[in-house]
Amino acid sequence: MFVQGNMDVGQNGNLTIGGQDAVELAGRYGTPLYVMDEDIIRENCAAFRQSMETYYGGKGLVAYASKAFSCKEIYRIVGDEGLGIDVVSGGELYTAISAGFDPAKVFFHGNNKTVEELRYALECGVGYLVVDNLAELETLNQLAKTAGRRARVLFRIKPGIDAHTHNFIRTGQIDSKFGFALETGEALKAIAMAKETPFLEYLGMHCHIGSQIFDIAPFVAAAEVMVRFMGQVKRELGLETRVLNLGGGFGIRYVQDNNPAPFAEYMRQVSAQVKITAAEAGVDTPFIVIEPGRSIVGAAGTTLYTVGAVKEIPGIRTYVSVDGGMTDNPRYILYQSEYDMLVANRAGEPKAQTVTVAGRCCESGDLLGENVPLQKAQPGDILAVCATGAYNYSMASQYNRVGRPAVVMLRGGESRVVVRRETYEDLVRCDL
Ligand SMILES: *Cc1c(COP(=O)(O)O)cnc(C)c1O
Repeated sequence: MFVQGNMDVGQNGNLTIGGQDAVELAGRYGTPLYVMDEDIIRENCAAFRQSMETYYGGKGLVAYASKAFSCKEIYRIVGDEGLGIDVVSGGELYTAISAGFDPAKVFFHGNNKTVEELRYALECGVGYLVVDNLAELETLNQLAKTAGRRARVLFRIKPGIDAHTHNFIRTGQIDSKFGFALETGEALKAIAMAKETPFLEYLGMHCHIGSQIFDIAPFVAAAEVMVRFMGQVKRELGLETRVLNLGGGFGIRYVQDNNPAPFAEYMRQVSAQVKITAAEAGVDTPFIVIEPGRSIVGAAGTTLYTVGAVKEIPGIRTYVSVDGGMTDNPRYILYQSEYDMLVANRAGEPKAQTVTVAGRCCESGDLLGENVPLQKAQPGDILAVCATGAYNYSMASQYNRVGRPAVVMLRGGESRVVVRRETYEDLVRCDL
């Protein structure tokens, strides 16, 4: 009935999230409200860690891709769960460091890191800098020289797997702004240069083939391509690749008919492929890293809104407007992403109507969904949008000078604010 495993209907007919009454949460903290279930986040961390242990003997690390949801508290939680993290900006790195996260377990990505960001990362002692291009290689070498230390680097490789088609294709994809291409020889040349670059320490390579991928086959194919390339690097450059970062992109269930492959099955197949190909290619099995983002936090999140205007346009559609929208969830306007929704104070009733859920911004495209099955909605109702834990808060804006909502974390029957709601004062804080 629910896309999220932590949802139910209480005695009073209200939606419960992690056993807590969603309508009560909305009343206590206000709306719009991001509700994150910490128990689910921790379960997901443990499941990833455990499957790494089971299928790859623990010779690896799960690094949470923090662009999915970044704030101090999430870095504390994943750090406590023994995970590493990946960051893609100085701001994410700063947030993690502010929360006391161990820099040795940080992977710094990005296709166009600034000189300041690279310098900051070196100062912090970031464990792994993922080099994207030759200019960055050169800059990093200079900065490391000045800092008097060697930068530990991985190379971002385009393995030539396009996972975003129904049957993934194993070619092309040179056309991406990220990383070095394999088939042109660019990747090998870059690694050869690193060998000659005294202030860089070559640790290994990285790939990330996409996001919200349901099949296992493209991940297995990418792992095979990467380990073969490790073999080539060893044969032609005499370099041992110690770290293989296979990226993230594991799909989650947003709506009932999404069926992501179980994560343990992914880990089983990918681990087997890495071991087989390593033996064939004559290389040691690498230390592997995976970088789940959405699959750690996505299904742990729910957004609660208050319903305002309801407009029935006869023969056309019914608009149900809420007190948030594209500012707190731009994924519909960006990608027409589907979400499961329900009226939290009538959660047990059948979804008797099909509506368009609109946001509050002055923008006709500001919608959260079209053709959404929903219980009868009236002004004052609480609308719950499911599986909003990833790429919602982290993508939120202040468009129309609408402040960003608070984030509340649920754990073991308790709730607490981990990011407070923005005030009007916050909105003018940088204005001179
Ligand atoms: C975005 C990203 C991830 C995480 O992707 P998800 O789909 O959220 O799992 C992992 N690694 C890199 C390099 C990324 O850019």
